[in-house]
Amino acid sequence: MAGFIARHGIMMRDCFSVVNHSRANWFPGHMAKGLNQMQNKLRSVDCLIEVHDARIPISGRNPLFESRLGLSSLKPHILILNKIDLIDMKLRNKIKKYYATQGITNIIFTNCKNPDSKGVKSIIPKVAEVIKSSERYNRSEEVSYQLMVIGIPNVGKSSLINALRAKHLRRRKATLVGAVPGVTQSVLEKIKVCDMPTVYLLDTPGVMAPRIQNVEVGLKLALAATIKDHLVGEDIIADYLLFRLNYEGNHSYVKYLDLDEPSDSIQHVLLTAAIRNNWLRKVKDHRGVTVVPDYMQSAANFIKGFRIGKFGKIVLDEIPDVSSVNL
Ligand code: GDP
Repeated sequence: MAGFIARHGIMMRDCFSVVNHSRANWFPGHMAKGLNQMQNKLRSVDCLIEVHDARIPISGRNPLFESRLGLSSLKPHILILNKIDLIDMKLRNKIKKYYATQGITNIIFTNCKNPDSKGVKSIIPKVAEVIKSSERYNRSEEVSYQLMVIGIPNVGKSSLINALRAKHLRRRKATLVGAVPGVTQSVLEKIKVCDMPTVYLLDTPGVMAPRIQNVEVGLKLALAATIKDHLVGEDIIADYLLFRLNYEGNHSYVKYLDLDEPSDSIQHVLLTAAIRNNWLRKVKDHRGVTVVPDYMQSAANFIKGFRIGKFGKIVLDEIPDVSSVNL
């Protein structure tokens, strides 16, 4: 049974529970969708660029990548942890060490909103290095290699492709080469992004369903906008956000929402914020039209605050401590 504790100056729940929330129908949900399709598409791909959201560096990655797609064993693979402008980069080595224990060592941290940033620039040299050192690279043959960007929704796959394209097309014109028929009806374009070895990027990303192991992972995925809000419910996502901020003693939401003090009651927080900020909606009933606080808009605005970094640089996953690993 959940209880209450005094934490960082307020009384709050000691754990987050969705038991009382009526909508938990997104879990376990639509997990394995699309993998077969992806497998076919991937047959012609030589190096996978998997993009993931650095705010959830562990949660939501699909472990089926490994077994079904032969990620690290058969195909060269680079893990891009994107949106680093929203995380505390002091965690970088801890994340890398954790992944080293999982056999994943090709990791690049990026901010795809800035195509000229160090991380984005280092991708193609890393791809060339990884391909050259892979078993499939044959120096004597005239071959070209194809990259595909994959990952769960909203992690920045398209932004990454655009950043790479912008970089490459800036240097050279007419690099878009013909159309390659995809296995599905869609037609994939490919762009040359590297000469030695010759590397092409398929310009349509492979969208994977997130892996939702448990309810808390689902909530983190929702907060990071990788699951559609309405599947989980803005009010539940907002409640989880409030719980996480209070738990960390991060009360920056008080000022952002124009509240008087921290509170662990999502109803109180959202209603007060709606009234103070004029987030109102009209309701029609037998008495006519009345104006009431818009609870759901308040929830949406609170969540948006997190997504644009208004509450600081936050990683939602607890990264296991493997300090014994040398990088
Ligand atoms: P996709 O669904 O994986 O293709 O993701 P998109 O490329 O469409 O990006 C989803 C959202 O994340 C968009 O609003 C992007 O502007 C935003 N985004 C992408 N990369 C970054 C990043 O490095 N930092 C931040 N803050 N936002 C990003």
